[in-house]
Amino acid sequence: MPNTLNQKIEPIIGLEIHIELQTKSKMFCSCPADHFGKEPNNQTCPVCLGLPGALPVPNQKAIEWTVLAGLALDSEIPLFSKFDRKNYFYPDLPKGYQISQYDLPLAEKGKWKMSRGAGSRSAGDNGKWIRIKRVHLEEDTAKLIHQFGMENGKWKMENKNYTLIDFNRSGVPLMEIVTEPDLCSAEEAKIFLQKLQQLVRYLAISEADMEKGQMRCEPTINLKISKNRKLFFTPLVEVKNINSFRFVQKAIDYEINRQREEFERTGLEKQPGSKTTRGWDEEKQITVLQREKEEAEDYRYFPEPDIPPIRWTKAQISNLQSQISELPDQKIKRLMKRYGLSAYQAEILTQTKEEADYFERACEIAGVVPFKEIANVIVNKRIKIEKLSSSELIKTLAKGKKQRPILGEELDEAIDEVLKENSTAISDFKKGKTAAIEFLVGQVARRTKGQADPNQTRKLLLEKLL
Ligand code: ZN
Ligand code: MN
Repeated sequence: MPNTLNQKIEPIIGLEIHIELQTKSKMFCSCPADHFGKEPNNQTCPVCLGLPGALPVPNQKAIEWTVLAGLALDSEIPLFSKFDRKNYFYPDLPKGYQISQYDLPLAEKGKWKMSRGAGSRSAGDNGKWIRIKRVHLEEDTAKLIHQFGMENGKWKMENKNYTLIDFNRSGVPLMEIVTEPDLCSAEEAKIFLQKLQQLVRYLAISEADMEKGQMRCEPTINLKISKNRKLFFTPLVEVKNINSFRFVQKAIDYEINRQREEFERTGLEKQPGSKTTRGWDEEKQITVLQREKEEAEDYRYFPEPDIPPIRWTKAQISNLQSQISELPDQKIKRLMKRYGLSAYQAEILTQTKEEADYFERACEIAGVVPFKEIANVIVNKRIKIEKLSSSELIKTLAKGKKQRPILGEELDEAIDEVLKENSTAISDFKKGKTAAIEFLVGQVARRTKGQADPNQTRKLLLEKLL
């Protein structure tokens, strides 16, 4: 931040993130949840159209997935939770209220360590803790499509602006994650969102594609200004209508500058409990005032009478916890340790789970090819993993490489060690699962750092097992 004389400016940024869950059906009815690009108003029923008398039936998967996200964000999962009605009028909300969660969310008080992106770890950045205030579940609204009166179509309306409503999105499960205001730059906010997108993709609960509206972000921003040994806080602003990582960054940077200028011009300060809403105007690249004040009381929240509250046992929660497989940060550490990768390589290779799996599959059959070389090639040559299989990759890399003749005794020892540690694979093999032998060959290759000839290994293994 620019420091003029005796003045220091620190942005205070919190994020409110909505993520559509990729469940088969919607949150409270059996209509398909996958709505992107579908024929408008084709995936609706009395429940998601908000017709009187229709009763909601909550989607168990969506509830469990929200808890999974809460656990991955190191949150507490209260054993009692409920849905509430958030009342407001808007054309995209036919019931006049949104089923959401108010005082008892599915997860709360989390924390998440955020590193600053590829390469930062090797530069000694261990990341920063961002506190997670809450994770709750609600339903998405219908989609408003604003258009200009058509020239030659049936709809002319004297070329006035008009709006269409598509109810396919109405009632899609929507997870909301709210952070504490622990971020302090547009860059940090962008990195946080990218990491969060990666996390929910690893959990396989959402594709979280911002361009498709599957992930939407509303940053809340104000400035802490110390000037002449006095502290000032500028009014709190929430920015809506942002649909890409780039615009998150732009909108926050714009707002930081706007608030600084406004403060210098007017000296306006934050009023307790008050928040202004501004919208991001993509065309003009500015934020525009939408609403002056908004408070929780305005929504007249009350418990949803049509849905019984949610009660968990501790066993159910730990069962959900055990369903979480290796997450990006753990995977990075393990790949570094097991394959001797640099932090940079590990970070790139774990950007998607598919790429990390591809790398590990290649290592299983590495043979004479060192693990580091495999990592280098995938990272630097940007291998298209869907176009070149990992075995084809290894074949190419192994070309021209001489097998270092590993001593018979050395190989023998390695095989014995592997057999000692993999009794399950042995019994699988004896039960007729022939694939188990390839697993054992891979284990021997790993133990000998790829110096054992796979054919020789296989032969020796079979001799020992048969
Ligand atoms: Zn429906
Ligand atoms: Mn919400």
